[in-house]
Amino acid sequence: MATPHLLYVTPEGEIEEATDLQALSFGDIPLTEADLIPLPDGVTLSMMPDRLAVGLKSSGGLEVLSSESGWAVAALLPIGYMRTLLPAYEKVPDTEPLPFFGYSAVASVDGEIYVAAIKTDDPYKWHPRSFSRQKLERQVKLKQKALPNNRLVAQHAHCVLDYSCPTASNLFLSRWEMGIAVSPSCNATCVGCISEQEEEDLISPQDRLTFVPTVDEIVEVALPHLLHAEEAIVSFGQGCEGEPLLQWPRIEKAIKALRAKTNHGVININTNGSKPRWLQHLYDAGLDTIRVSTISGHPETYEAYYRPKGYVFADVIESLKRARADGLYTSINLLSFPGMIDREREVEALIKFVRETDLQLIQLRNLNIDPEVLLPRMPALKSMGEALGLQKMLEILRKEVPEVKLGNFSRPIQRVRRSVDATDAKVNVEVGVGERRESASSARPSLPVID
Ligand code: SF4
Repeated sequence: MATPHLLYVTPEGEIEEATDLQALSFGDIPLTEADLIPLPDGVTLSMMPDRLAVGLKSSGGLEVLSSESGWAVAALLPIGYMRTLLPAYEKVPDTEPLPFFGYSAVASVDGEIYVAAIKTDDPYKWHPRSFSRQKLERQVKLKQKALPNNRLVAQHAHCVLDYSCPTASNLFLSRWEMGIAVSPSCNATCVGCISEQEEEDLISPQDRLTFVPTVDEIVEVALPHLLHAEEAIVSFGQGCEGEPLLQWPRIEKAIKALRAKTNHGVININTNGSKPRWLQHLYDAGLDTIRVSTISGHPETYEAYYRPKGYVFADVIESLKRARADGLYTSINLLSFPGMIDREREVEALIKFVRETDLQLIQLRNLNIDPEVLLPRMPALKSMGEALGLQKMLEILRKEVPEVKLGNFSRPIQRVRRSVDATDAKVNVEVGVGERRESASSARPSLPVID
């Protein structure tokens, strides 16, 4: 097994290798080749501002490179890959928190760049290569010309051109999962919120939406997508907004208006799941799938991160249970932070949560945050037991809750409303282009098993 060597960025911006120093992960733990995979396509290598590179000498001591020679470097992974270890670094005292990115440990192995990650889904639909800038600029202009007064078109054009947001891009490319932002406000104050930060020295990477779209504005962009897009998903709840549930009456009207016009495609909500009774209105209106954001199955960890206003973790569980009972396809957006979510208490709590909610899919999301911003605001890691490692955590999940899927993004899965009896309500159907199965009350449909 080759020894992974330290990588660093020179002041000139070159990536260099220190062949006399072993690479480390956060907490100064030596990296081994078994922790690493070759750098996948679509990765961005990022210099970590005011973070000095640190490596392990063959003598066993640590060596911190001077700022003249080099800064720490990390990988930012594309969707489809789960980060397993954070990078090691030495913070220059009294410097700013790191920008909100998902920093992953890297190293050089036999002269090649490797990263601490595992592939957890097919990145095709999210890969930067699937989003031609030229084509997007053209499509944005066309849509803005066609719908000059639609504020959602203007908002998501900003998200495409300034943030390269895939779900905003799909609105203009008329395919796959498109996003619709509806809520300027939120009833949580997440430590890592990417659209609004209350603490002075923390800068959210995206601007929060400033208006509430009308039902007509929503339907104007969503209906053509449901009717014509390939594997169409319309998703309420985007990174550039607060909590969509705070606008549930408008979403309810929009869903009813859309379903009055078409049965095509999938209507999804990405939410913090805070209000089960509000969500029930959306289930009744025809919502197909729900993705609830969480960092943990344990109430203490959840509430430390989400800092909820006017709801508790039990409400989140209730929202998922009701969705499952109503036949929606249910998933969580599990904010993944190595060294915390893989601790014994967290893994046990996650398994209990998955079983209690009869969850169908865990979407793994690398949490974009500075470790030294997150950890001081969370319960002590020691109180959560030993860290098992994310690879081990996934193995345990596959063994303990084999029925739950693991992946990185939502599936175009419609729910079937059956009027027969409740037990049938739990059949979900993977949707091809434009297909929607009405109620097949006669017999359970011989549909492909979703694997
Ligand atoms: S639920 Fe979303 S919008 Fe609300 S604080 Fe958390 S990350 Fe931000």
